[in-house]
Amino acid sequence: MIIAVDGPAAAGKGTIARALAQHFGYHHLDTGTLYRRVGLELLKSDGDIHDAKVATAIAQNLHAYAWLDYELRTEAVGAAASIVASIPEVRAALLDFQRSFAEQKPGAVLDGRDIGTVVCPNAHVKLFITASPEVRASRRLAELQESGADVTFEAVLQDIRQRDERDKNRTVAPLVPAKDAVVINTSEMTAEEAISAAVRAASSAR
Ligand code: C5P
Repeated sequence: MIIAVDGPAAAGKGTIARALAQHFGYHHLDTGTLYRRVGLELLKSDGDIHDAKVATAIAQNLHAYAWLDYELRTEAVGAAASIVASIPEVRAALLDFQRSFAEQKPGAVLDGRDIGTVVCPNAHVKLFITASPEVRASRRLAELQESGADVTFEAVLQDIRQRDERDKNRTVAPLVPAKDAVVINTSEMTAEEAISAAVRAASSAR
């Protein structure tokens, strides 16, 4: 059983995917973390963030790098992740790992941008989680402020819009709902309401 959870930054995918995995007793993979790790290593190396060769080499040897979870969550690393994610060879290098993860028993929930369209087009359940850019920016702002970051709403909103643009307009695996995805707009929902809607949608599609 594979559940694909796609959608733009800060729409609530992670919260929903974790809750679904817990509800059904499945494994969970946040695939954004893979791209964030490639972006983080490139930033650490002080190299050119657009260097496809270096980014691909990092993606092919991702297991060899150590990282701290909090380092991955910054806006700078999110932006770097979306740049390296537009390199086809980087995406190809990360594909086998994601597909093997998805095959685990009794089931797996993967969240990202292209799970229902490219990584697991045969997923049994496909959800596309979205929300307005403003709502997503205010949620992300709250998270960042909680972790002590000094950021403004405008800066976070601008970052979200830029990331949406890059993710939607790249030529390889762009952010787009799968044709057979159930779309859940969480703009007006609490986290609990969004989780219930996702559990309902997944239960009836299973
Ligand atoms: O979801 P998260 O914000 O952690 O993802 C960081 C970036 O990684 C996204 O903006 C996107 O460009 C990229 N990504 C992707 N495909 C995925 C997951 C993330 O391109 N399956």
